[in-house]
Amino acid sequence: MGKDIHAIAIHGGAGTILRSKMTEEKERDYREALETALDAGYLVLDQGGTSLDAVEKAVNALENCPLFNAGKGSVFNAKGQHEMDASIMDGHTLHAGAVAAVRNFKNPITLAHKVLVHSDHVLLVGEGAMEFAKPFDLEIETDEYFHVDHRYAQWQKIKGSDSFQLDHAKEDKKYLGTVGAVALDKHGNLAAATSTGGMTNKKFGRIGDSPLIGLGNYANNKTCAVSCTGSGEYLMRGVTAYDISCLMEYKGLSLDEAAKESVMNRLLALGGDGGVIAIDVKGNISMPFNCEGMYRGMRNSGGKEISIY
Ligand code: ASP
Repeated sequence: MGKDIHAIAIHGGAGTILRSKMTEEKERDYREALETALDAGYLVLDQGGTSLDAVEKAVNALENCPLFNAGKGSVFNAKGQHEMDASIMDGHTLHAGAVAAVRNFKNPITLAHKVLVHSDHVLLVGEGAMEFAKPFDLEIETDEYFHVDHRYAQWQKIKGSDSFQLDHAKEDKKYLGTVGAVALDKHGNLAAATSTGGMTNKKFGRIGDSPLIGLGNYANNKTCAVSCTGSGEYLMRGVTAYDISCLMEYKGLSLDEAAKESVMNRLLALGGDGGVIAIDVKGNISMPFNCEGMYRGMRNSGGKEISIY
């Protein structure tokens, strides 16, 4: 099943700029950035590449864009630094790679992919991840590279306080968010990737759902591939990505039923806002969210679609 069908979905974070504050120009910028990432991932699939490579490529494009909270556009932590989390999972082998609280890597998802392929471990953190990365010659950027003015302004508002802020925190009327991609390749294999700068003003080495397998990211050929975005503390308690897979595997729900049940009922009941992108082995895609919007896009042989609200 799934052979020769290929499809990809991406997100640039749940909780968007409020519709009332979105300008035509900004909307065009977001749409263009999403389309570039979508096309980068789809090209890999179209040429017969793996879903793992496709999700990495799509996420790389989003990480390189200052509009999204990942890679270059990562938010500032309480110390004025950028600590990034990322994870990637192969639905065929159930192998996974993840990194947390890493700094200066241009593309944390590429590092996570290296962990998947070249390490016996799943999750590497901080300095250790840096040391692991040495032989791979990955691109390292200066702190200045990650300085994006609107992120700095976001941080200045709450710097020195005890509050931390989700990129799409209600008080801030939503800015941008974590990024992710899920894909089905021509070989019938699923993969999921998620990358984030986390929360503005986060401290004490706070890590969210994004690098945690089953929580913010999950892929299993038996069921689906999922990438989450939203309030990490709730997505963690809801074990949201795996929850969707379980609802399909144990309860026999369809992809769309499972994703909606998890996001619109269970996550909301816990008090969490956010959304997911999910794909199954037939190439069905579901992208529910329980907040104002979610930057998202999907592409298959039938065409592509990019949406915000
Ligand atoms: N889930 C991410 C985190 O809590 C944030 C986001 O999706 O915007 O780190």
